[in-house]
Amino acid sequence: MSLVIQSDVSLKPFNSFGVEVKARLFAQAHDDAEVREALDYSREHQLPLLVIGGGSNLLLAGDIQALVLRMASRGTRLLEDDGQRVVVEAEAGEPWHPFVQWTLGQGLSGLENLSLIPGTVGAAPMQNIGAYGVEIKDVFAGLTALDRQTGELREFDLEQCRFAYRDSLFKQEVGRWLILRVRFALSRAEHLHLEYGPVRQRLAEQGIERPTAGDVSQAICSIRSEKLPDPAVLGNAGSFFKNPVVPAALAERIRQAHPGLVAYPQADGQMKLAAGWLIEQAGWKGFREADAGVHRLQSLVLVNYGNASGRQLLALAQRIQRDIAERFGVELEMEPNLYGA
Ligand code: FAD
Ligand code: NAP
Repeated sequence: MSLVIQSDVSLKPFNSFGVEVKARLFAQAHDDAEVREALDYSREHQLPLLVIGGGSNLLLAGDIQALVLRMASRGTRLLEDDGQRVVVEAEAGEPWHPFVQWTLGQGLSGLENLSLIPGTVGAAPMQNIGAYGVEIKDVFAGLTALDRQTGELREFDLEQCRFAYRDSLFKQEVGRWLILRVRFALSRAEHLHLEYGPVRQRLAEQGIERPTAGDVSQAICSIRSEKLPDPAVLGNAGSFFKNPVVPAALAERIRQAHPGLVAYPQADGQMKLAAGWLIEQAGWKGFREADAGVHRLQSLVLVNYGNASGRQLLALAQRIQRDIAERFGVELEMEPNLYGA
């Protein structure tokens, strides 16, 4: 057995909120064999298994009575290349942003708008990560997952993943699928997505008229670095709430009382509201109680000023949810995955 299992391990270094909780058992899987060892161990000892990657989309509200398995498998490869369309594959434990940089270094376009998102390749399909008008479903070419119920390997194509806004089959069937490696279909020709206002604007400010995928990546990195707190400095899990999609009539009612409402029409006729705008209007921007707070520049991001517990962060999130429901009649759904509550 090569898997090293430790007991009572602090998860503070393994969650981007920097919340101090303990894992009853903790191990890191470097390959498929170690993943199977962890599965066997959890089954034999009748202990739940919690798989994590970079811990950047977790809210840990208490100690985790499980074997926490951190995916640490590494490797990237080109699988197919017809001179235009190139399929690449990465192991689940590959850190996401360096993987994006690697694809750009290979002259491949497709992932540039998803630059600087923390976390791992294996977690990216969980919530179909998205930013600046692109989601992984737009360039997804397949993935290999282990069915934790049967121990069998299964290949998934785009349709089978049931990707939606910050959602997927893997998030719905929580705890069933362990993602081992993911494939993306990228392009040697550049089809850039510049429709998100700040991207075009930043490129224009830099005097770049005909941007490359690398230029777009750099512009997005600079926008993100200005707006978002770095988890290494200030604990956070990115956007804490999903942007709610509501009936157009509700959006219109809110707009009558708040003419500045930020809302985007959806293909199905509903409206996507900017959750951060609602939270800011309700006066929560910069709010702080003990070490749990709402970021002073970005109301969608809850932050840990140092010693906030997961429970304190959760309590703050629930107060915000109640307030937004009372003021606007809108239910905010939490985005990070909650464990130990
Ligand atoms: P973790 O937090 O470790 O895990 C997340 C979930 O996935 C958990 O339920 C876990 O059990 C499960 N999981 C992890 N790995 C696997 C696996 N191999 N197989 C099966 N299940 C697994 N998200 C966006 O979509 N867009 C953004 O722009 C964005 N920006 C962010 C900015 C900041 C500053 C931060 C802190 C977060 C941001 N996020 C964003 C959220 C987060 O980075 C992503 O959701 C990321 O994909 C999480 O990856 P992770 O490896 O850290 O997952
Ligand atoms: P922003 O540019 O201030 O915009 C606020 C919200 O309005 C965004 O969340 C976005 O929704 C929506 N929006 C903006 N322009 C849009 C357009 N042209 N069409 C449709 N919707 C539009 O947002 P931000 O907070 O700085 O984030 C920028 C991007 O990074 C967003 O895509 C955001 O999702 C992503 N991001 C995600 C996380 C996370 O943890 N999930 C953290 C940081 C940033 P969408 O969110 O639906 O795109």
